[in-house]
Amino acid sequence: MDPLVVLDRVNKHFGEQHVLKDISLTVSRGEVVVVIGPSGSGKSTLCRTINRLETIDSGSITIDGRALPAEGAALARLRADVGMVFQSFNLFAHKTVLQNVTLGQTVVRRRSAADATRRAMELLDRVGVANQAGKMPAQLSGGQQQRVAIARALAMDPQVMLFDEPTSALDPEMIAEVLDVMEGLADDGMTMLVVTHEMGFARKAADRVVFMADGEIVEEAAPDAFFDRPTSSRAKEFLSKVL
Ligand code: ADP
Ligand code: MG
Repeated sequence: MDPLVVLDRVNKHFGEQHVLKDISLTVSRGEVVVVIGPSGSGKSTLCRTINRLETIDSGSITIDGRALPAEGAALARLRADVGMVFQSFNLFAHKTVLQNVTLGQTVVRRRSAADATRRAMELLDRVGVANQAGKMPAQLSGGQQQRVAIARALAMDPQVMLFDEPTSALDPEMIAEVLDVMEGLADDGMTMLVVTHEMGFARKAADRVVFMADGEIVEEAAPDAFFDRPTSSRAKEFLSKVL
């Protein structure tokens, strides 16, 4: 085991509300960890602390052995190392698909326009939307936009990819095309932390399932063990509603 993302006794409050309670979690290199749990349990906040979109009150987070930088160029580099894909696709609306995938490469990774374009087209091809490169995001379906968002994150050569409910905003027929891309990444050995309600994906792609409720990690297990033999009452109750 080669720990890549390590959270150690992380606590986070929003005002009086304690939303992350002593969270300790390690994602090893090449591992796929799926986080599930009821709405409001702190899953998004957990993701957001890892690339410092949220600060933490206590505890520590390290990526590849380094503490999260507070600000400046070091923070920009960290964010490039941690690819993030959200529920809402968050593409730059006034840039083409291709520009969406080249921009970070030229600005943060300082690649030449030619290198960035080559890499972008490779990744757009990989996620199956190379033929949409010249279009504006609004001209694409939701599933296509989310695949562009994945390509954009991958273009930075991240060490780890975080996905926060990447298919929750999609029409049902588009969910599979995004999950397929994610499964491909998992098969290729990408380190991934995935928040999702797609239990089929969790069973197939996860090395480990982490069940969160009310700001705590309640249960952690291999997917088959978790889905077939959950031990906590909260996990049993949650699974009875979603399976
Ligand atoms: P989940 O992703 O599991 O649904 P979240 O991490 O989004 O949960 O939220 C956990 C709790 O923190 C919720 O009660 C939510 O209302 C609260 N919360 C999230 N973000 C903020 C914020 N920026 N300000 C105040 N409360 C927040
Ligand atoms: Mg959420």
